[in-house]
Amino acid sequence: MCEKKRYLCGNIISCFMSKLLIVGTVAFDAIETPFGKTDKILGGAATYIGLSASHFNVPSAIVSVVGDDFPQEHIDLLSSKNIDLSGLEIVKGGKTFFWSGRYHNDMNSRDTLDTQLNVLESFSPKVPDNFKNAEVVMLGNLHPLVQLSVIEQMSERPKLVVLDTMNFWMDVALDDLKKVITKVDVITINDEEARQLSGEYSLVKAARVIAEMGPKYVVIKKGEHGALIFNEDHVFFAPALPLEEVFDPTGAGDTFAGGFSGFLAATEDYSFENMKTAIIHGSNLASFCVEKFGTERMQTLSRDEVRKRLMQFKALTQFDIDLQ
Ligand code: AMP
Repeated sequence: MCEKKRYLCGNIISCFMSKLLIVGTVAFDAIETPFGKTDKILGGAATYIGLSASHFNVPSAIVSVVGDDFPQEHIDLLSSKNIDLSGLEIVKGGKTFFWSGRYHNDMNSRDTLDTQLNVLESFSPKVPDNFKNAEVVMLGNLHPLVQLSVIEQMSERPKLVVLDTMNFWMDVALDDLKKVITKVDVITINDEEARQLSGEYSLVKAARVIAEMGPKYVVIKKGEHGALIFNEDHVFFAPALPLEEVFDPTGAGDTFAGGFSGFLAATEDYSFENMKTAIIHGSNLASFCVEKFGTERMQTLSRDEVRKRLMQFKALTQFDIDLQ
């Protein structure tokens, strides 16, 4: 029986039981878009995932690494969202992971200008004891061997393991990545990466090839064109909300993953039907992320704003049709 009740975005009530363990980079990013350019700002896959998942009030923890150049204010921000940071290693004298990217005019594609692994190069992750029994593990973008090590430290097989990755790791650590892929339930990946990983242009064929590598569920993110989830012969599609202004797409994929995994952990229902709703929550949260540079929009996003936009999502996707 549930003892505590809590509020989730979308007005769902659930029990305070499951935990979400998040792995991924905590980083400095420098971003260029057609609308402007930033110096080093807060970024990283785990950062976006954590901020997004925090909307579901599930106890969550981040396993990652930074250098002692990482400002206390960023740590305070993550702590203020009730994210357990006992698994965030701070390396004395080390430099935090740095990524820089430039978006093309369509804002759907980008070039990576620089990736400096820094402290990530010799990182050996430690899962906090009280998160070794987390029901949901969200393996955000990071070296596949680190992702693998986290799975191996769990005291029992989590109910759901979700993997996100990117072309960088396909280029430099494909064999390790393939090992991790055999151990996960869900993979979230963007369309170009799905094509690279599978060698197939058709996303339907790509999803089939990737599913044969291990994951039962394959989520393919298509930026402003929405997201697809494949499971055996079933497929579901959620559009992205048409936005008047897209300022910076960085972190949208991670924010999506945070919403997806956060919702599933909160509802403790890992069925395909519930994953469809999780995709809507992920897409909804990602639609905010792109409205400002970096994590700025996610830092102040309120429950009320999230809820209002969910209603817009519903209106966007619901229709009646007479099929007689
Ligand atoms: P997304 O736009 O969802 O792909 O996520 C962008 C975030 O991923 C940025 O904040 C980066 O710091 C982080 N990132 C970029 N490259 C990598 C990489 N090779 N491994 C892990 N994280 C990365």
